[in-house]
Amino acid sequence: MTQFLHPSGKFSTPLSGASTGETLLKAKTSQKQHFGCYQEFLSAFLERGYRFCFFPELRDPFSQLVLRHDIDFDTHLALRMAIQEKALGVRSSFFFLLRSPMYNVLEPQDYENIQRIRELGHVISLHFDPTLYLDFEQGLRLEVEMFRTIFKTDVNIVSLHRPSLFFQQHDAPIAGIEHTYQSRYFRKVKYISDSTGVWRYGHPFETAEFIENKSIHLLIHPIWWMVEGETNLDKLRCYYRQRVDVLKANFSENCIPFRQLNGHL
Ligand SMILES: [Zn+2]
Repeated sequence: MTQFLHPSGKFSTPLSGASTGETLLKAKTSQKQHFGCYQEFLSAFLERGYRFCFFPELRDPFSQLVLRHDIDFDTHLALRMAIQEKALGVRSSFFFLLRSPMYNVLEPQDYENIQRIRELGHVISLHFDPTLYLDFEQGLRLEVEMFRTIFKTDVNIVSLHRPSLFFQQHDAPIAGIEHTYQSRYFRKVKYISDSTGVWRYGHPFETAEFIENKSIHLLIHPIWWMVEGETNLDKLRCYYRQRVDVLKANFSENCIPFRQLNGHL
C-alpha cells in the first residue's frame, strides 16, 4: 500500500522552564491547534505532579492519570501521538478496532504502526464494538483471541466503541475481561473526554479534580490533536481530504484503468 501522507504534523518541542501557570495559559489559549499544543497540554499535568499510569495501576485517589486513546480513524495519527508522549516520558494505553471501516490492523503499515507504539512503551489493546454481535460476550472472546494472536500480547482490559448506556453502566468484566467503563475507571475517578472534538464538560484544567490533584481517566482521540485546524470541523475537513488523496493513490496503484481517471475526479 502507498505510504500514507498526512497533514503537516509538526512535532512541537517540549516545554522547558515554563511555570505551571504559563503552561496552563498556553495550553488553554493556543487556538491555532484548536485544543492547543498536545505536548503543552500534557506538560501541564506533569507540572501539576500527575503520574501517568496504565489501567491496572490506577489505585491512588490522587495524582494518577490514566491516559487512554480510542483509535477510531487512523494508526498513523496514533503513532504520531505516541512519539510525542514518549518525548515527554508519558505512558498511555491505545485501543484499536479489529473491524473498522477506517483502517485495517493487518495492513502492513497499520500493523507496523501499532507495533511501534508498543515498542515506545505504551500499552496496545482492543477497542471493541459490541453492536457488531448478537452475543457480545462471544464476540469479545473472539476478538480478544484474534488480537492476542495477531499482536502476540495479552489483553487485560478493553475499551468499548461508542458504548450505549447499557455498557456504560455495565460494571462487571465482560467474558472475564475488564473494560474501561467499569466504576473503578469511570465513576470512582474523574473521567474527561475530548469526544466530538470539544470539551463538553468544560476544560480539564478548570475541573475541581485537576485543581485538587485528584486522579483522572483522560480519553484523548489523536484526530483532534494531530491534525491542524482551528475547529473540530476544520480538522475533519483537512483529514477527509487527505484520506481521499490516499484512496486515489491506492486505486491508481492497484488498478491500471483508474489512472486515466485520476486527476479528473
Ligand atoms: Zn471508538
